[in-house]
Amino acid sequence: MKKLILLVTIIMALLVPQSISARTGVNYSPSASAFSVETNDDAQQVKLRIYKDGLGGKPVKTVNMKRDKAGMWQATVKGDLKGKFYTFDVKYGGKFRGECPGIWATAVGVNGKRGAIIDMGATNPAGWQADKRPSIAAKDLILYEMHHRDFSIDESGGFINKGKFLALTEPRAIEHLKALGVNAVHILPSFDYASVNETRLNEPQYNWGYDPVNYNVPEGGYSTDPYKPEVRINEFKQMVQALHNAGIKIILDVVYNHTWNIDESNFQLTRPDYFYRKNADGSYSNGSGCGNETASEREGMRNFMVESVKYWVDEYHIDGFRFDLMGVHDIETMNAIRTAVPQDIFIYGEGWSAGSCAYSGELAMKANINKMPGIAAFSDEMRDALRGPWDSNSKAAFLGGVKGNEESLKFGIVGAIQHPGVDYSKVNYSKAPYANEPTQMIAYVSCHDDMCLVDRLRASVKGVTTEELIRLDLLAQTVVMTSQGVPFMLSGEEMLRDKKGVHNSYESPDCINHLDWDNLERYPQVMEYYKNLIVLRKAHPAFHMGSADMVRRNLDFLPTENCLVAYHINGHGVPGEQWGDIYVAFNSHKRARTIEIPEGTYTVVCRNIACNADGLATVKGGKVTIPAQSALILHN
Ligand code: CA
Repeated sequence: MKKLILLVTIIMALLVPQSISARTGVNYSPSASAFSVETNDDAQQVKLRIYKDGLGGKPVKTVNMKRDKAGMWQATVKGDLKGKFYTFDVKYGGKFRGECPGIWATAVGVNGKRGAIIDMGATNPAGWQADKRPSIAAKDLILYEMHHRDFSIDESGGFINKGKFLALTEPRAIEHLKALGVNAVHILPSFDYASVNETRLNEPQYNWGYDPVNYNVPEGGYSTDPYKPEVRINEFKQMVQALHNAGIKIILDVVYNHTWNIDESNFQLTRPDYFYRKNADGSYSNGSGCGNETASEREGMRNFMVESVKYWVDEYHIDGFRFDLMGVHDIETMNAIRTAVPQDIFIYGEGWSAGSCAYSGELAMKANINKMPGIAAFSDEMRDALRGPWDSNSKAAFLGGVKGNEESLKFGIVGAIQHPGVDYSKVNYSKAPYANEPTQMIAYVSCHDDMCLVDRLRASVKGVTTEELIRLDLLAQTVVMTSQGVPFMLSGEEMLRDKKGVHNSYESPDCINHLDWDNLERYPQVMEYYKNLIVLRKAHPAFHMGSADMVRRNLDFLPTENCLVAYHINGHGVPGEQWGDIYVAFNSHKRARTIEIPEGTYTVVCRNIACNADGLATVKGGKVTIPAQSALILHN
């Protein structure tokens, strides 16, 4: 009987027409290629065109697709089409809307105008079958956000593949990341985006890439040959493999909340107005601040996001996703994504939108993180408590010696969870904890958005000297790296990068965005401190307990003073922790301050601008001094 049920189930599965969650596009085999595309119900005709090249030329074949019973348009073209390109053109109201590769192209020609027919298996680098996602728990992650071009374009870096995916396979990159100690690289948009013209890569062009074209294909501008569809795919995989071999995870910045424009998007050309939210007056809603916003609550869009994320995990072995403007999406979709991928895939996002959204249900905002288990959000509470508010470049906060940011800092120290030591009424933004677990909060002081840390300190701390700037920089990252949340840093902070004061460098030239690798020699104390700080965090579970209950049990705050926050961790209560009582203090005053701790002998592991988990000195308990503008960490 059981066998019969199984047999029936299998037959049923084979008979049921492809659901709309299926990935459309092209299914290649050497004998024939099957094409499919989904449209709105009122589509009148779909033309499939086959081309020799990814751009230009006349079609070598044009086929009228047929609609199947499930409403999907299908066509099978016999023969080996490997190396050819294709487009779909859908007719509505008597007019063809224009050619596009559809929403599910997994390979494209230059600038992503046409889908490409390739043998996906042939894009795998040697040893790809053995490639595995490194096993690192969410509580142990240390995130490093980088842009390919920032990282490797400057001569000072000495990279062969400047500005390319392949730069991350070079020893210089891998050795630097390993020396720093970060264990997850979060790459800015690396799917095919619009704003860099891939036919003119000999000219310097820069963009962050928040203007999606083909969501399921790597960007051509970061490949060594955007005309050959398999090259970018192979090079992307080589990058993943090199990082994985070094024990480093790779996280993709995904931008499903908007497309670079409406009229020419693959969404709009195949299913007009289906994927976007509209206002009551019929205009397009703009919760992304980029001219449109997608409608994740619609079945087709939700399925697209789930399938796309799954695809990057399966095909490219991606370890995690950073959702741009996650607050534009609905929480059901985010939870569906969470469920669809393995638990070790780390998911986080911006728990806000850039404008009001035309959706009446619950959005994946920071305040709703407690309804999205296993998903984290950036803490602007901690960020702005340190550097100053987001709506001004020149306003300072804790780092600039401005009082009143202490409770917001404490909010970030505990990882945005409920904690009896935090007065939520005094927190800058969230007036209540939003995380169930500390791993649902991203701790950071700077990212690609806004001024980087050096520029912000220069702009907000009057008359800041280089010496003072370094002290404050190190103080800021000590708060981040000892937070119970998941720490995150912008690439280049370890080499005291600046962007010449540009606060929105999304299309600024290389001279603004590039990392100057010579800074490692100019300011060796910065890299040294970061490195040692990360070593300290990794070696001591007390700084990443990973459980809200454990944090509540073992972390208590000392009395807070203006510009002075200090806390105690009971290391005995944290499994695997070697240290006993741990004291951490942050002093942003321009003068030394003291805290009172129990009598005893303590080992200092962080003081002034030095950090060493093995110990720098010993001090007696009682009144302990924290030098100006610095952190102090000690233990017994
Ligand atoms: Ca592109």
